[in-house]
Amino acid sequence: VATEKIPEKWVKTTCGYCSVGCGMKVGVRGDRAVAVRGDEDHPVNRGKLCPKGLSEHHTLQARSRALRPLLKQKNEFQPVSWDTALDTMVEKFLSVQAKYGKQALGVLSTGQLVTEEFYALGKLIQLGFGTSNYDGNTTLCMASAVAGYKRSFGSDGPPGAYDDLAESDLVILIGANIADNHPILCQRLAENRQGTVVVVDPRVTKTAMLADLHLPVKPRSDIALLNGIGHVLIAESMIDAAYIERHTTGFEQLRTHLAAYTPSHVAGISGLTEEQVLDIARRFGRARAPFVAWTMGVNHSTQGAETVNAICNLSLLTGKLGFAGAAPFSITGQCNAMGSREASCTSSLPGYRKFESAEDRAEIAKLWNVDPSVIPTKRGHAYPDLVEGMVKKEIRALWIIATNPLVSFPNYDVLTQALGNLEFLVVQDGFHPTPTTLHADLVLPAAIWGEKEGTYTNSERRVSKVNAAVPPPGEALSDFEIFLRTAGQLGVRDKLFPNWTGPRDAFEEWRQVSKGRLCDYSGLSYELLETAGPIQWPHPQGTESTGTRRLYADGRFEHSDEKAKLFCIEWQPAPEQPSRQYPFVLNTGRTVEHWHTRTKTGEVEMLHRMSPRAWLEMNPTDAERLGLEMHDKVTLVSRRGQVDGVELRVTSIIAPGHVFLPFHYFEYNSNRLTLSAYDPISREPNYKQCAVRVERSH
Ligand code: SF4
Repeated sequence: VATEKIPEKWVKTTCGYCSVGCGMKVGVRGDRAVAVRGDEDHPVNRGKLCPKGLSEHHTLQARSRALRPLLKQKNEFQPVSWDTALDTMVEKFLSVQAKYGKQALGVLSTGQLVTEEFYALGKLIQLGFGTSNYDGNTTLCMASAVAGYKRSFGSDGPPGAYDDLAESDLVILIGANIADNHPILCQRLAENRQGTVVVVDPRVTKTAMLADLHLPVKPRSDIALLNGIGHVLIAESMIDAAYIERHTTGFEQLRTHLAAYTPSHVAGISGLTEEQVLDIARRFGRARAPFVAWTMGVNHSTQGAETVNAICNLSLLTGKLGFAGAAPFSITGQCNAMGSREASCTSSLPGYRKFESAEDRAEIAKLWNVDPSVIPTKRGHAYPDLVEGMVKKEIRALWIIATNPLVSFPNYDVLTQALGNLEFLVVQDGFHPTPTTLHADLVLPAAIWGEKEGTYTNSERRVSKVNAAVPPPGEALSDFEIFLRTAGQLGVRDKLFPNWTGPRDAFEEWRQVSKGRLCDYSGLSYELLETAGPIQWPHPQGTESTGTRRLYADGRFEHSDEKAKLFCIEWQPAPEQPSRQYPFVLNTGRTVEHWHTRTKTGEVEMLHRMSPRAWLEMNPTDAERLGLEMHDKVTLVSRRGQVDGVELRVTSIIAPGHVFLPFHYFEYNSNRLTLSAYDPISREPNYKQCAVRVERSH
């Protein structure tokens, strides 16, 4: 090994990609990160890392790092000082607000910041700029899980733990290809020695190949299957009547509702046989501790939140949650999507306080030392509604932070129209150019993972310390510092962030704000996280350092009557059906080598080489019918747009009539095809199904 690649020290931190939350050590030589290795003592990954984590240090030295503030003048980006950049931003935002009202300013953030930054940003947006039109790209990935948990249990917060993967005797993964998307979590399935692993997925994913049983349902039929399981549990007396009576409401309505979901009816919708429906229902009923985990196959749907409720119904009907191995468990996407759920002001006020609750508003106002009237009584626009607001010219200025919507938001043409209507667009990112920064009037260069301090919370509510291994490049600043300086420019720094100098100050305030809430951090400190390692919340002051492995162990939920709610969910077909002109159902998803829109992984040579371009999966019978062969270049066309020159992969892992395209690649942007259809409850987009035709490219 060349000397320049030998680390002089190792800095402990947490992976900045996915929500598994692996612990790692960054090898540093001088002020360069030269290696990454897994942290053997971390309870999540025990030394292992996936290809993204192992090569994460390369992202710090990417050629496309944003190095200095850039202001667009006469259509050209010109470097400016931070003072000029922030002065311009604040002046433009305030003038738009003076002209069109406070809500004419929108903010779109991310799941990539540290919790301390989410907390500071929420205060800055709500109290400093006085707009509630603030949401994150987290609405594109896990808003359905959030809304579903709130409806069923009274609060967001995944009730289970990763240990449940080993301790369950029946693991059901619905719409969750964890082999590609959460690889280290997938490896923990190997710890399950006596249980059965079932994968419910329309594709024969790598996860399905690893499972004991694969149920290849038709896309978007999971609610019918879940209701069918509920039907059989009731019909065959496999429910826990005492638990239902003591801890839930809505059982009689649900019993009546599920009567129609007979195995034969469900078989007709799902494409499974009656026997398969009966078999999975009986496995669930007999299991000591069933663990049902899901990700985007459930969330990315116009019925995402309701599907979550249908999953929670099964745990509640059988009383099988709150103990080892048993939980309805959402696996989150981004490294700190959970932190944004807990501490920001997007779909809830910090600490899962409800905008609609006068008591919650009064409490947060007191903690923030402001009049309760300044706390909004309902959340502002969710992400798709912000875009709609831009189209209608109600939102006139936008601040985008660490996200790349021109690749990730559905229906590309609508978004470009929306951005074109803005009077001022600021994009704060660690990378430039990206498709989105190129549209900006002002680019603010931000530090990324490896260059800043704070905490992340992973999918199992485990709070991990994040540390800076190296300084940010050029003039880039941490998002935290940018928020503080913006508050200074706005004249509210002393009021909002009195005597704050770094993330530790935000953490200390957040500890107090979260005290007594479900996500109680009051017993945590940076020192404890450094010495005891990562800890699962709630961790109230005065408790042991092991945290809380599972929620709702006592059957007391967060609704005002302390009972969970059972929901009657009706299966509905997908919003766009195939037709003669658009005969295929397009499914979109990921590959193990890449992360979201590839701003980071596209810059890592090893990952780029492993997966340099998109591909389209098509069943051999469809390929033969269309006269197409492996590696042919094809064009996909939907009612909204087209994608050209995609390499064809002829494979039976995809069912006839369906095609699959990974969504990472701007050059083959699947979101030129996807539709503007959203879950009416969670506002999450329906990325998983739209109708397309496939032609040979010319
Ligand atoms: Fe990072 Fe997720 Fe890979 Fe772990 S599984 S190394 S958290 S990307």
